[in-house]
Amino acid sequence: MKPVPRWPLHPAPVEGEALSSWLRRVAACYQMDARDLLENDLGHGQVDDLDIAPPLSLLTVLSQRSGIELDRLRCMSIVGWVPWLLDSLDDRIPAALDTYAFQLSVLLPRRTRKTRAINRWRAWLPSQLIRRACPLCLDGSAEQAILLAWKLPLMLSCPQHGCWLEAYWGVPAHYLGWENADSAPREASEAMTAMDQRSWQALTMGYVELPRRRVHAGLWFRLLRSVLDELNTPLSYCGKGAGSICYVWEHCGQPPRAGQNQWRPYEILDPAVQLQMLEAAATAFDLLESQAVIPRGEQAALFLPALQTGATSRLLAKERQQEPMRDWKGMVRAVNEAFTEARYNPETARSLFALAAYGKRDPESLERLRAEFAQEGIPPAFLSHYEPDGSFACRKISDSLSSKF
Ligand SMILES: [Zn+2]
Repeated sequence: MKPVPRWPLHPAPVEGEALSSWLRRVAACYQMDARDLLENDLGHGQVDDLDIAPPLSLLTVLSQRSGIELDRLRCMSIVGWVPWLLDSLDDRIPAALDTYAFQLSVLLPRRTRKTRAINRWRAWLPSQLIRRACPLCLDGSAEQAILLAWKLPLMLSCPQHGCWLEAYWGVPAHYLGWENADSAPREASEAMTAMDQRSWQALTMGYVELPRRRVHAGLWFRLLRSVLDELNTPLSYCGKGAGSICYVWEHCGQPPRAGQNQWRPYEILDPAVQLQMLEAAATAFDLLESQAVIPRGEQAALFLPALQTGATSRLLAKERQQEPMRDWKGMVRAVNEAFTEARYNPETARSLFALAAYGKRDPESLERLRAEFAQEGIPPAFLSHYEPDGSFACRKISDSLSSKF
């Protein structure tokens, strides 16, 4: 068989670059576009899913033309990230979502979550790959490479520059415009860059350093996807974790579930909502690590500082025995969470009010308490019909409110 000649010119792929981006850059060396190169040089016509699952025959000829190993070329499309990033590219596997996103729990206790079964689902893959890029990467480099991870709703920021990935149109190196034309590169928050650095470490190193221990990349992506679903869980299914979920959303300045009323898997949410969900996930990890929310999931401990050993843990245990109220931080946290949850959950609002009103029977004190609750953002309608014996006479109003969650 006649050996396939090497291309005299072919730029090296940039780390994490998408196959389509690299092919565009190879084609540019010969004053072609990627389509011409595929058709005239590689004999492949139009390939629709170049960045998802390119034909093996194409990868083979690309390897021969460039001298780059087949495996490296394969990892420039999503198929090369199976089974780390996703279990399979086949979207007809029953219970695929359940297996991927409902086995682990971080913010919520596992048993309180409602599992979901849907037809045709693949982790992380939106119906159309996203067109986002780092303005600094594209401004400052001759390569103008587009990374594969930018095309998925997986990261918010550039791992190298720490600025937001921005939506663009056009073809890099030829003509390119930013959808948000006037904006300078926006610096991402510390929480976002910390989360994105972990995803980047997972993609490039195959593992992630979490506070408690190092975990495999596959586990990191499943933890992240689980948290995204936990943040999208209707509050009525969150049990005691509802306060933590509300607290996270409040920190982001967003309504719970980014305002979604109906549950849909993350992958098919509107791209703007996906970004809000990712931002909430970054906030959740940050709050979890600073111990500002109560960890309720089985895997939450991975985000807590390493366990104290030996003398330190014995000393702490002794201190706790002598002074049981020393966990004031935990108490403040629990009260804060209860207040946050009470803003959305009538049941919690009523319990909290009954607790605060304990021993108060005169209407003036109860009115003052109602005003204080209203100042905390708890709707007065949640607290109507309170009886001084500690019960609520009519639950209909609150129950009808709670049904909307
Ligand atoms: Zn960058």
